[in-house]
Amino acid sequence: MKPVIALVGRPNVGKSTLFNRLTRSRAALVADYPGLTRDRHYGEGRMGDRPFLVIDTGGFEPVVKEGVLQEMAKQTKQAVAESDVVVFMVDGRQGITPHDKAITDYLRKCGRPVILVVNKAEGMKYTAVVADFYELGLGDPLVISSAHGDGVHTLLEEALGKV
Ligand code: GDP
Ligand code: MG
Repeated sequence: MKPVIALVGRPNVGKSTLFNRLTRSRAALVADYPGLTRDRHYGEGRMGDRPFLVIDTGGFEPVVKEGVLQEMAKQTKQAVAESDVVVFMVDGRQGITPHDKAITDYLRKCGRPVILVVNKAEGMKYTAVVADFYELGLGDPLVISSAHGDGVHTLLEEALGKV
C-alpha cells in the first residue's frame, strides 16, 4: 500500500495549492485503493521512486444543512482516518486563529503523526514564523511556500519518514 498523506487546515491556507504541487494534478484511481471513499480529492505523487497518495480537504460542496464548519470537520475527520500521516497547514501571514486552535485540539487526539506546516512564508523571517506558531504546541513547524515550492521537498521527506 502507498502511504497516505492528509492535508488539513482551515480554508484558504493553501491546501489545494500544495496538493496540486505534490500531485501535479494527477488524480488517483481511488477504485484501486480499497478503504478510500470514492472522491476526486485524492492524488498520486512520487518522491524519487517512492509513490504516495495525498488527500485534499475543504473543496467539497457542503451537502448537509449544518453548514461549512460542520462539513469541514467531517471531511477533516474522514481524511485523517484514512491517512498514515497528517500535514496540518496554517497561514504564516495571518498568524494563529481560533479555528487553527480547534483543529489542533482535534489532531492532538487523532492518533496519527502530525506535521505542522506554516505556508505562505516566502519572504518572511524564518525565526519569527517558527516562534509565532510554536505556541500551538505541535513542536517546531516546517516553513514552506506552496506557491513557490520552498520547503516542499523537506516536507515530503519528513512526512514519508513518519510512515
Ligand atoms: P485552501 O483553501 O486551503 O485549499 O487554499 P488554496 O490552495 O485554495 O489557496 C488559497 C489562496 O492562498 C490562493 O489565493 C493561493 O494562491 C494562495 N496561496 C497558496 N499558497 C501560497 C503561498 O505559498 N504563498 C502565497 N503568498 N499565497 C499562497
Ligand atoms: Mg482547497
